[in-house]
Amino acid sequence: MNQQPSRTAGDTKGPTIHGEHTYRSQGGHSIHGQPNHTGLPQKQRHIRNSRRKIRQQLTQMKKMQWHIQFSWVKAHVGILGNETADTLAKEAATSTDTPEFYDEVPISVVKSEIEVASVKKLQREWDQSTKGQITKQYFQDIVARLNMELNLTHNFTLMVTGHGNIHSYLHRFRIRGTPTCPCGIQDQRIDHLLFECELLRKERNILKTNILKTGVLPINKSELIRKHFKGFFKFTNDISFDKLTNSDPNGD
Ligand SMILES: [Zn+2]
Repeated sequence: MNQQPSRTAGDTKGPTIHGEHTYRSQGGHSIHGQPNHTGLPQKQRHIRNSRRKIRQQLTQMKKMQWHIQFSWVKAHVGILGNETADTLAKEAATSTDTPEFYDEVPISVVKSEIEVASVKKLQREWDQSTKGQITKQYFQDIVARLNMELNLTHNFTLMVTGHGNIHSYLHRFRIRGTPTCPCGIQDQRIDHLLFECELLRKERNILKTNILKTGVLPINKSELIRKHFKGFFKFTNDISFDKLTNSDPNGD
């Protein structure tokens, strides 16, 4: 039995089962054929069943001592098997009532596509949301955020959300009598603490020194996260919010 694939020189198109030759070669137990990749949609159940039938028939013929070879043949020159394959491919491609199935798609591909779609949806929602305005200034890109391994601390979370033990936030909920920072300059908001508050001058100077080793000033929140995360993380954890809060003469 000979199953060595072979090619016919010069023929590069129209892979097909060589029907005519099959019939002519029956006496010598020979068949010319080859895998079909011409356009029969892989996602159609009846095509899969057809492939199975072809394999079964080939197996059966091998048992009967048929000599089977695979070869390329020229397309569109009237070869019966090739013309039949073309016709079936066109029918399948233009059919609108052929059910699709997905059990030949690897799970990893499905997972990957779902993940990409989910991240895109999340990014759209993040862009359109009116919530988390402060956090959005730090984290604009969802993919970049997902790729970060954050060891969250209380201070860091407070500084990237604005939620916690700062006067403007506590004042909103009537927990403090005034939003003003103990430095007396402005309301105690995140931007004030990060860029202006005199009470954090020492911590900020350390941050600036770290930034200037590789970057430039001024700098915005997004750049702090993307380019100087380590220095910014240290800055947030160096802040004593209890001290800032307790030094408020207008607080209770
Ligand atoms: Zn201040």
